[in-house]
Amino acid sequence: MREIVILGSTGSIGVQALEVIAANPYDFKVIGLSAGGSNIPLLIEQARKFDVPIIGVSEDGEIARSLAGEIQVIDGKQASSEIAAIPADIVLNGITGSIGLGPTLSALSAGNKVALANKESLVAGGPLVTAFGLDRIIPVDSEHSALYQCFKAGTFAEVRRAILTASGGAFRNREDLSNVTLAEALAHPTWSMGPVVTINSATLVNKGLEIIEAHFLFDLPYEKIHAVIHPQSVIHSMVEFVDGFTIAQLSPPNMKGPIAYALGAPHRVAKATSAVDWTASHSWDFLPIDGNKYPALSLARHAGELGGGVPAAFNAANEVAVDAFINEELGFINIVEVVAATLAKLAHYSTSKLRDIADVTAIEDDARTVARSLILEHR
Ligand code: MG
Repeated sequence: MREIVILGSTGSIGVQALEVIAANPYDFKVIGLSAGGSNIPLLIEQARKFDVPIIGVSEDGEIARSLAGEIQVIDGKQASSEIAAIPADIVLNGITGSIGLGPTLSALSAGNKVALANKESLVAGGPLVTAFGLDRIIPVDSEHSALYQCFKAGTFAEVRRAILTASGGAFRNREDLSNVTLAEALAHPTWSMGPVVTINSATLVNKGLEIIEAHFLFDLPYEKIHAVIHPQSVIHSMVEFVDGFTIAQLSPPNMKGPIAYALGAPHRVAKATSAVDWTASHSWDFLPIDGNKYPALSLARHAGELGGGVPAAFNAANEVAVDAFINEELGFINIVEVVAATLAKLAHYSTSKLRDIADVTAIEDDARTVARSLILEHR
């Protein structure tokens, strides 16, 4: 029986993780949950259903307490970090955005292993997170879960390159992205995810973040990390070895697979996800990524190669720009323009040595300020 803590339990990853756990009640027990303030009734319902003794909410603690009965409630900005430090076998971090970094570091400091769906932890604070040892982090991101599994087929020195697959997002078949609407950007063809990740998929910023994530997670140099468009999202990523063999991981797109793998690793959870149906016909396509249509990818790679605090600035600027797009203050194609213009002003952060989360936060604050002023100029 593994004891599990889930951060961001009311979000897309958290809800699916609880479905995995509900299907495997003899393998997993939930001992702590946390969520933002937006869906306290669901959080309480989850805690009741799974008999969880303690929950954390980032805001509206009084409302939570009034509904929680005998369940202990921790509230405030540090609530997720406190819940993350509860001694557990695995802490699943399903928070979206770089606010997930503090809870990731808190879990690792407490000696917990982390099932990491919060890629921004590695993008913004990669050196801080990896200082605890790469064996303490199991990826939940589907591409990185695939790579994690494919890497087992050879030694690290035998890896020629890792190839991340990208669905291509909402606009893979659309040439002109200049008048994309919010509703169009939120309609992802293959994956069901939260709004920020869905927008990031449409711009391919998500794939850029994942390249940086792979760099830290597997200690791979950027020149060994590639990406290719694979519209069907069945092959989740591949590792090519020095002998020319490529190992791929396949399953129909469903986040429950990688979530279950991370919760159960190194053991596999039976029936975690449906398998490919080999009695049916399939056609799977692979297309090179058009760098002119998707400038986010080379921009992310550039940010990663500059290193220091630049990846944190990249992510923070994107969070601000996506927020402005969701609030219809910024056009779709302007999202990545704002991120690029922000980085052009902040390249000096490449020499920053990140010592603690305060260093990361200071760089993010600066990037947010710069991005916001650029957005105002756009209007
Ligand atoms: Mg992914």
